[in-house]
Amino acid sequence: MDHAAQPPSHLAEKTVNTTTRRTFLKTGTALATSAVLRGTPARALRETVSPTPLAQFDYPDVQLLDGPMLVQFQHNHRLFLSLDEDSLLKPFRQASGLPAPGEDMGGWYSPSPDFDPPKNMTGYIPGHTFGQYVSGLARAYAVTGDQPTQAKVHRLVAGFAPTISPKFYTDYCLPAYTFDKTSCGLIDAHQFARDPHAFTVLDHATDAVLPFLPPKALNREELAARPHKNVSFTWDESYTLPENFYLAYQRGAGPRYRKLAQRFLEDDTFFNPLSENKNVLPGQHAYSHLNALCSAMQCYLTDGSRKHLDAARNGFAFVQQQSFATGGWGPNEGFQNPASNALADSLTETHNSFETPCGAYGHFKITRYLLRTTGDSRYGDSMETVLYNTILGARPIRPDGTSFYYADYNQSARKVDYEQKWPCCSGTFPQLTADYGISSYLRSPSGIHINLYVPSRITWKQGSAHATLTQQTLYPDHGDTTLALTLSHPERFTIALRIPAWAGTQSRVTINGKPADTALTPGTWAPLDRTWKDGDRIELSLDLPLRLIPIDDRHPNLVALLHGPVALFAIEPSIAPNTQPITQNRLLAAQRIGDSAVWQVTTDTGKLRMIPYPAITEETYRLYHQTT
Ligand SMILES: [Zn+2]
Repeated sequence: MDHAAQPPSHLAEKTVNTTTRRTFLKTGTALATSAVLRGTPARALRETVSPTPLAQFDYPDVQLLDGPMLVQFQHNHRLFLSLDEDSLLKPFRQASGLPAPGEDMGGWYSPSPDFDPPKNMTGYIPGHTFGQYVSGLARAYAVTGDQPTQAKVHRLVAGFAPTISPKFYTDYCLPAYTFDKTSCGLIDAHQFARDPHAFTVLDHATDAVLPFLPPKALNREELAARPHKNVSFTWDESYTLPENFYLAYQRGAGPRYRKLAQRFLEDDTFFNPLSENKNVLPGQHAYSHLNALCSAMQCYLTDGSRKHLDAARNGFAFVQQQSFATGGWGPNEGFQNPASNALADSLTETHNSFETPCGAYGHFKITRYLLRTTGDSRYGDSMETVLYNTILGARPIRPDGTSFYYADYNQSARKVDYEQKWPCCSGTFPQLTADYGISSYLRSPSGIHINLYVPSRITWKQGSAHATLTQQTLYPDHGDTTLALTLSHPERFTIALRIPAWAGTQSRVTINGKPADTALTPGTWAPLDRTWKDGDRIELSLDLPLRLIPIDDRHPNLVALLHGPVALFAIEPSIAPNTQPITQNRLLAAQRIGDSAVWQVTTDTGKLRMIPYPAITEETYRLYHQTT
């Protein structure tokens, strides 16, 4: 059962339907009269055929508390809630010949005569992120219960409905790419914002795009072998479609979507060889193929295909083989051959090291799927590595669409915004930050797993008890986390704590001040099984060692320094003399300056100051050090 896909329960359906219908009839056209309310958005979901040892909680169950993740979530929520709806709908209205008031958003989002790929990417994919903004808002509504957010989702869906037309996709370079995001927005509007028209709109949108989709999933090489108007037509991503098609089917949109999902599985060139543990990643576009692994996971969950689970697990393991110490991957948006110098060479050859918001969004999704399916805590280790070292250091999206895109791991690196407004990464960022809560905890048959140590509160039903668990923590700056429990009555269950694989030997856990009777084995869960009662308190102290991670096996002396999960970046002014190798012992003797986030390493030529990625602003910085 896809627990994540259950709708929020904090709203009376009556209110929802009244508001929606009025808004819809006002703005909708022919579709409004033909719209059949097929079932209710709150209908029971189809069981997934592959039961998983762990399950997701629902969005309203987890609330973030004060901390950097809440700041990012609220920023994105507010920004997209205030975006002008005429501007958001403009590319669709223009294409269908409807009146299209409002300002152009610009960048990738609005059509432009300047578009000339790859030289000039202005006007690249009009309307591409519309569905992701709807999805981010629908999920934000599910988290917060904020009525204006729900109303905005419903207005956007209603405003989109009359624009649906094959004209939109005529001469459109990435029909599958944009439709995948549109369909995600519509199924999330249905599921999380209880939009009763979203599935009808999805049916129409699907009818409109089908003539423009290839007969099966095609990668860039295959697209390039077909006639194409310009290079951008070879960048479409039909192979990411199945995940949202499967979800549409699971959420009740109809059996057609399951068939469509199966049609676009990238079996021949990707999943079949991956399932046989052949690394076919090198040369493929990075984020979209990481994302395709999520389609394989949905195929496993929905159709029970073991082959696709193997493909996803093996594929993700291949990604990890070629990841940076930050957890990021795919320099210049491509997967590399791990048996080459490509990763190390990228440190001098590019500044486009990791496509951060999109990559982190995909990374959170695939690790959440694999956590649920395998129960292996190391997928949680991977998720937190990406969280603390990549996305939490992303610059916020600005109201004009200026967005953060690439993290830079060059030997002389800077944090910069992307040259084009409203790129792909402005679409995934609000989706990811809305998912922070459901990524932090997982449900097990015997209780609850704590996956991320973040200030947050989770409320759930445990047996016959109402349970609330509140996390207070400054992790990963410090290793201490307090978990306070409130329970309506005593109940026996298990609270399992993720003990990261890198944790040191001095980690401790106490319950109500007394050492807990459990092993803290790095790379596993520490299960605390007992009869819990109201007021119980768990104190976890994770030992955060300093450690070095080489960029790959071929370059054992090219290393990054980490404190626990946190990569430390050397910042100016002492960055230049990288010609003078540092000894590994000196890096490992780094000293923290007071209680700050700043670390200091003594070298032959002076002091090297080091800070975590989120603390970097305008400084030049470096991740990797040549050591002896
Ligand atoms: Zn992106």
